[in-house]
Amino acid sequence: MVESFVYQAAPMRVVFGSGRLADLAAELDRLGIKRALVLTTVQQKSHGEQIAALIGNRAAGVHAGAVMHTPVDVTEVAMQQVMALQADGIVAVGGGSTIGLGKAIALRTDLPQIVVPTSYAGSEMTPILGETREGLKTTQSSPKILPETVIYDVDLTRTLPPAFAVTSGINAIAHAVEALYARDANPVVSLMAEEGIRLFAGALPKLAAGEDDAAARDDALRGAWLCGACLGAVGMGLHHKLCHTLGGTFNLPHAETHTVILPHAMAYNAPAVPVAAARVARALGAGQAAQGLFDLTQGLGAKVALRDLGMPKDGIERAADLAVSNAYWNPRPLERDAIRDLIARAWAGDPPV
Ligand code: NAD
Repeated sequence: MVESFVYQAAPMRVVFGSGRLADLAAELDRLGIKRALVLTTVQQKSHGEQIAALIGNRAAGVHAGAVMHTPVDVTEVAMQQVMALQADGIVAVGGGSTIGLGKAIALRTDLPQIVVPTSYAGSEMTPILGETREGLKTTQSSPKILPETVIYDVDLTRTLPPAFAVTSGINAIAHAVEALYARDANPVVSLMAEEGIRLFAGALPKLAAGEDDAAARDDALRGAWLCGACLGAVGMGLHHKLCHTLGGTFNLPHAETHTVILPHAMAYNAPAVPVAAARVARALGAGQAAQGLFDLTQGLGAKVALRDLGMPKDGIERAADLAVSNAYWNPRPLERDAIRDLIARAWAGDPPV
């Protein structure tokens, strides 16, 4: 069969390598940024201060106020800083939460953004922003949201706690898995997806063991770039919708929820997408995609049950209702009873079927 597809690349610049944070001043110059507001979380304040010291008087200030799920009131506080300091650009250093705050500011101001990702979540590669208002998370896409420049410096990932490196890595793998069976899948994105999964499957056992293995860290960050590029390039399906619903409804942690759900979502979709499932299995070096993902997760010591993340048992029916309440594309049609069983197995920590 001759394939037919559309491929569109996101217009962004990627600077990659150990020590490449040293390029930050030059990258600011490229974008004409003279007064950057450096964003991060309280937990990574030292990363923010390191960056401010590096760029000297090009730093207007450090705002260590980012939190998970980009609440609008948190963005409003940061916006006051942008205005008070007359910032003309954003440098976001951190995981998806910090990057989300930078995107929210860029959406409101169209200021240029340089992102220095320190986790594997992949938000830096997408024009998508999820914001929370009064507990409800809504997602939007705009060219203003896409960062102009991304600096992947592996040195900043050395402080990632091993357990978070694992769940963040599986979060990244989830983008690649769904890209392989996306409605708008194409050969270039599928190559990136398979390579991204392969890199993480090799690197994560070393990171989980707490080894300070430079090659494994490098592979994982390269995998994060590739998987994030998949997320930015093609549409996602059941897995991402389910994680969004579960995270928002039961306030579950982002990367951990992806980690629990992924083997089950793969099992649900596998019969409809045998070629994509075979590519996932091949990238994992496993006999079968869904079981391979479950074995990887369990072998890395990650939690495999939603109940261990704090989801109540009586939430299973509600989650199933919500998961099928908004129609969206998925390679296998959304069947309420089968999705309810999927959630129940994920809640209990059972293997995928
Ligand atoms: P996170 O950014 O909340 O990070 C979790 C914690 O780890 C934070 O305290 C953070 O400061 C810390 N951390 C991150 N990197 C570290 C490092 N190298 N060393 C030490 N501590 C570090 O979590 P996340 O999983 O990266 O991001 C989750 C958020 O990103 C969610 O809100 C999710 O919706 C969003 N996200 C959005 C997109 C998108 O395209 N819009 C894509 C992926 C994720």
